[in-house]
Amino acid sequence: MRSSLGGKHVSGQERIVRPEEVEEVILELHRRPKGDWDFQSIKIERLKETPIVLEKSLPVRSYKFPRVGLARSRAAALLEDVCGINAELVRHLFEKLSRGVKDGENLRGALLVDPWSGEILAENIRTILFDWLDRKKITERLLKRGFTTRTVDALALATKNVFCGVEAEICISDDPDYTTGYIASQRLGYLRMTPLKEKGNPLGGRVYFVKKEKLEKVIQCLRSKPVLIAGVSL
Ligand code: AMP
Repeated sequence: MRSSLGGKHVSGQERIVRPEEVEEVILELHRRPKGDWDFQSIKIERLKETPIVLEKSLPVRSYKFPRVGLARSRAAALLEDVCGINAELVRHLFEKLSRGVKDGENLRGALLVDPWSGEILAENIRTILFDWLDRKKITERLLKRGFTTRTVDALALATKNVFCGVEAEICISDDPDYTTGYIASQRLGYLRMTPLKEKGNPLGGRVYFVKKEKLEKVIQCLRSKPVLIAGVSL
């Protein structure tokens, strides 16, 4: 489902469901946008292959910092220590995301960057075809532990990314009121960090660090491999 207002994207979500759930989920998606919209499109298609079922998501942790600068420094230090990605490169990319990657605007998909050279390999790459095996159960568990519905979607996306060979990811929301972002990798898990951007900024985005030699395989997986996740690692 995607909804827009005056041509500007306001809400979107993708789901993988059983045939008997389709009607119910169409209604859920129709009601999903919280704000106003003047266009909504809901497209349904049959999967071309059986989804891979991952036993567990990345493990989730949350960290709070007094200032954006400190959160970003910690994120950069962790990505350098654990993933070997230059901390200066990470800081530069955070800046780029919060200034608008494309002429001061948000991308609809991620920026793919080589973790060693910093070269931009591709832009606007979207992760699609992922969901929880039992979304209701996982949502209840995450909400009970104090996480938000945003975490439900972003954790599934980050888990699929790692499965597809993304070395690490950084994300800051484009919602001006939502300052929590995250970094994720196989070894780091999914680390929510508050605040990763200044309140009021409508710019954000995602960077996926992908080794240049794996680029095509990773993009192919992100776009065409259906992935379901059975459990959440808390
Ligand atoms: P959100 O987490 O929805 O606030 O999205 C933040 C940014 O991440 C957006 O502005 C897009 O640039 C990017 N993004 C959103 N959805 C996807 C996706 N499915 N795959 C890759 N990037 C995305």
